[in-house]
Amino acid sequence: ATQPYDDQNIFAKVLRGELPSKKVYEDEWALAFHDINPQAPVHILVVPKRAYVSWDDFSAKAPDAEIAGFSRAVGRIARDAGLVEPGYRVLYNVGGHGGQEIPHLHAHIFGGRPLGRMVG
Ligand code: 5GP
Repeated sequence: ATQPYDDQNIFAKVLRGELPSKKVYEDEWALAFHDINPQAPVHILVVPKRAYVSWDDFSAKAPDAEIAGFSRAVGRIARDAGLVEPGYRVLYNVGGHGGQEIPHLHAHIFGGRPLGRMVG
């Protein structure tokens, strides 16, 4: 079972405006801001406005309109950042093996350099 949502997590505080962020995009479904510790020249985090612990929680429970709205936002943000032609990567870390540290769903968008291959 998914852990209960902790409304004191860092991204909940960012969404409430209690912590600052370098905002790059906002709409009805999503807020996007620069990662504080970027792993590529472009490293943007996209979070749903509503409370989901992880991609697992979101993909299981979010209404179709929200999944569509959020997914379109991720694509638009990458497009607006000029990443489509050179290419980019979208990543969701989930749980312990995935290395997820903050328990509010976030898509990582990486770009601006060749990203290499991820091998198991
Ligand atoms: P996770 O490991 O949970 O998938 O990714 C968490 C990400 O959040 C990391 O890339 C980390 O650098 C970033 N991060 C952690 N704290 C903050 C913060 O306060 N502000 C921003 N903008 N990013 C953060």
